Amino acid sequence: MTSIWGTAAVLAAVIAIVALVIYSVVRDKKSGKPACGGDCAHCGRKCGGRGS
Ligand SMILES: [Zn+2]
Repeated sequence: MTSIWGTAAVLAAVIAIVALVIYSVVRDKKSGKPACGGDCAHCGRKCGGRGS
């Protein structure tokens, strides 16, 4: 049962990446940037951003 540690390591890495993505999205929202990166002319405001 050593392979469980490999699985746990992969899982931890995935969780870390997801957390980083969520954090960056939240940070962008707080700074007034929509989730699409401000390109609402192309995203059709699906991101829920204000657009320009
Ligand atoms: Zn957008």
